[in-house]
Amino acid sequence: MTSTIRALAYLVASLLFILSLRGLSTQETAIRGNRYGLFGMVIAVICTAVALLFPEGEVAAAAVSFSGVGVLAGALGVGSVIGGLLASRVAMTSMPELVAVLHSFVGAAAVLVGIATYLQPGAEVEAARGAHLIEIYVGILVGAVTFSGSIIAFGKLRGKVSSRPLLLPGRHLLNLGALLACVALAVIFLRAPDPWPTQGDLSSMLTAGMPALLAMTFLALLLGVHMVMAIGGGDMPVVVSLLNSYSGWAAAAAGFMLSNDLLIITGALVGSSGAILSYIMCKAMNRSIFNVILGGFGADAGAKPAAGGSAAPAGKVNETTVEQVAELLLAARSVIIVPGYGMAVAQAQHPVKEISSLLLSKGIKVRYAIHPVAGRLPGHMNVLLAEANVSYDIVKEMDEINADFPSTDVVLVIGANDIVNPMAQDDPSSPIYGMPVLEVWRAARVVMLKRGMAAGYAGVDNPLVYNENTLMLFGDARQSVAKLLVALNAGG
Ligand code: NDP
Repeated sequence: MTSTIRALAYLVASLLFILSLRGLSTQETAIRGNRYGLFGMVIAVICTAVALLFPEGEVAAAAVSFSGVGVLAGALGVGSVIGGLLASRVAMTSMPELVAVLHSFVGAAAVLVGIATYLQPGAEVEAARGAHLIEIYVGILVGAVTFSGSIIAFGKLRGKVSSRPLLLPGRHLLNLGALLACVALAVIFLRAPDPWPTQGDLSSMLTAGMPALLAMTFLALLLGVHMVMAIGGGDMPVVVSLLNSYSGWAAAAAGFMLSNDLLIITGALVGSSGAILSYIMCKAMNRSIFNVILGGFGADAGAKPAAGGSAAPAGKVNETTVEQVAELLLAARSVIIVPGYGMAVAQAQHPVKEISSLLLSKGIKVRYAIHPVAGRLPGHMNVLLAEANVSYDIVKEMDEINADFPSTDVVLVIGANDIVNPMAQDDPSSPIYGMPVLEVWRAARVVMLKRGMAAGYAGVDNPLVYNENTLMLFGDARQSVAKLLVALNAGG
């Protein structure tokens, strides 16, 4: 493949990736955006494979490359089957875990590419040696932090690692010390002679920069573990988004090492979009992005430990029945539905949509209120509602709808907890204080559908359940909503 054709193909793939990101920014164009991304990736994989197997102008190399075809086809086949199976089987609620695992792959790839590139004899031109070594060093550093951080994020999201923040004494100093040590190791690494002055001479490798490189990799792995361990469960969305950004920069660094323009562009797109998303989420949760980068995010000294829902009930709970809720809804002029993680677990979005359609057909104003971190991944609720064919124009973001709660007759909170917790505004000692929430308590009536009195993801008690205007409809969300639909049909 000539370099011109390859450059052109890479350009087309890059444009498709940009169009993909643009498409994914609104629900109406998300499917198209996904397709652009898919086509871009197919072009990228084919083009890279062809360029690898048939280096520029070397027709004779084709014969040599046939063993390479087998290896590459095998790797692509195995990767595609595993990826396809994982993606088709994963539940929507486990998506952040899958994303975290995929980020760890990118990190691991950057580390392996970096070490392999360093060990490749005579890979760099003398004049560019310094820059080349810096690429390798930074690529491995970011890759190792991404790898171990993503594994811990996966463990926390899966519940295998405690979601409580691990607060080691002097944790910021530990992070700073590790970073300074990485800088010192970088100096040793850059000054070391090339690893393979004589082909095959193992001892020269040990006296070269390899020990410094491996020591830094080890430190970076520890840094990744420590940074994510120090982050509280309720703040994991930002961490996953931040690791997404890190994985992009790690991929871009691997692109520099491999002199692959497309990898550089794609890595930069992922890195910058992940950083922008992290910033937007930090703003939505009233946090500083520097706290996230330094670790210890969401675990300020004054924060009290999460109650975990085990605290004694702080008041009287008003339990209600399906029939009573049906009556309230039919008598209402305006209803807002707040979906949360529990709706996703119960897969209740289809009957919920039927309820909203029924109420709309009776002339009742119905809207959905979406919190930026409702569920377990950004956009989780939007995806579920789109799957149930809920019209986009009645799905409102938090900022669009928060002012409308005081003029709302009934709010149905379906399997949501943290995102409607008034303590985020009222209690400065609460771990979620400062997080913007949906102000449902300002409505005339709030009906909460949940199975029991368990806390939400952040593990903190929610005083909303004891409010006078809150009614609790206990039970699995899907069953409660199905019964409610029957009662509404009977009552209407
Ligand atoms: P929460 O986790 O706060 O609350 C969900 C509630 O749903 C629980 O209290 C639970 O109570 C109830 N529930 C669970 N299963 C069912 C069921 N089958 N039927 C009925 N109710 C059920 O969810 P929110 O959506 O309110 O908040 C999201 C939380 O997740 C935030 O803390 C956010 O920071 C965090 N998070 C968000 C991510 C994102 O990107 N969006 C990623 C990772 C975490 P009970 O057991 O009593 O039924």
